[in-house]
Amino acid sequence: MIVAKIGGSQGVDLHAVCRDAAEIVARGERLVIVHGGSEATNALSEQLGHPAKFIMSPSGHTSRRTDRRTLEIFQMACRGVMNQRLVEGLQKLGVNAVGLSGMDGRTWEGTRKPAIRAVEDGRTVIIRDDFTGTVETVNVGLLRSLIAGGFVPVVSPPAISVDSEPINVDADRAAAQTAAALGAESLLLLSNVAGLLRAYPDETSLVASVSRQGIAEAAEIAQGRMKKKVMGAEEALNGGVKRVVIGDARVERPLSRALAGVGTVFS
Ligand code: ADP
Repeated sequence: MIVAKIGGSQGVDLHAVCRDAAEIVARGERLVIVHGGSEATNALSEQLGHPAKFIMSPSGHTSRRTDRRTLEIFQMACRGVMNQRLVEGLQKLGVNAVGLSGMDGRTWEGTRKPAIRAVEDGRTVIIRDDFTGTVETVNVGLLRSLIAGGFVPVVSPPAISVDSEPINVDADRAAAQTAAALGAESLLLLSNVAGLLRAYPDETSLVASVSRQGIAEAAEIAQGRMKKKVMGAEEALNGGVKRVVIGDARVERPLSRALAGVGTVFS
């Protein structure tokens, strides 16, 4: 079983992703695709006159301010744009892909944060109407029955809270939870960089492998959203996934290359 999370940043070649996924599935490999919609959300928010806002936690982590309107735009971008693009690409190649949001069938369930602390103009404020959280359980039965029926699940945020509200969750970490829950051998985190770079954006500074002991150092090298991928890698390994690869999705055969160890391999 392979879980592949596909990034939505500029440069990612969705056609190459779909072609490679189709070949992998044709070989009889079981595959689950996960994706987010960060870039598409930023673009759509701008178009809809509700521009994206980011908040900083007291510990210095940045996250999207997800009020109800932003959440709806996030849903449109993830499910309406990104998910359906991938499903279309796969269906054109004869792969029977099924798009699901984490809410559908409670594929991803988690807890909504009751309040978040953010630093604004040097002051810490409490925000209560934010729809964010973390995936805690994965509906393994639903995913397994789809896979057994010959379908390829394509899963995207939002997740569903225990109180059945939609929650914005990080797709890299949700993919890690999914891979662990399904007992996948490999988790591929594919994006618009060659992997974890020691001196971002210098692509020649690729970190080829990271051991369990090296994860803390890897987390320090990673900036911004790359930090979530390193966190996801660690969570997947802790959950029993044998190998996590942060790899490039701007190239031909992106999944196969990552499976062959091209990128940053965590094991
Ligand atoms: P996606 O949306 O495709 O999943 P992200 O934009 O979330 O990808 O994460 C990949 C980004 O992380 C890169 O495009 C890069 O801007 C950023 N990044 C920060 N630090 C590093 C690093 N040390 N190595 C590689 N990328 C990094």
